[in-house]
Amino acid sequence: MPYCPNCRFEYKEGMDKCPDCGADLVEQLPEETPPEGPDFVLLRNLPSRLYAQMLQEALKNEGIPSMIKGDEGIPLRTTTIHIPVSKITIWVPEKDVAKAEEIADQMLDHI
Ligand SMILES: [Zn+2]
Repeated sequence: MPYCPNCRFEYKEGMDKCPDCGADLVEQLPEETPPEGPDFVLLRNLPSRLYAQMLQEALKNEGIPSMIKGDEGIPLRTTTIHIPVSKITIWVPEKDVAKAEEIADQMLDHI
């Protein structure tokens, strides 16, 4: 049976192109490899998503991909005090972490 190497679907005998992506079908799928992305490491905990997005933008300008994880958190209403609980973190590829640190330091200094 032919398979699409991209979609990993099996198709009927006699087809030679994937109707989904147009790739040439192959007789055998290559060994399944786990998706390999860069290893992301935690760069910073941030007080809000806004900071995270600003930092992400700054990193992007330097060609560093980043991921924002976490929630802004629901402000806890304890009697009269609102305590914002922020768990926003920003992650960068391990190889870029030194450069990203610099950018983060610079940027967060100005806030
Ligand atoms: Zn396909």
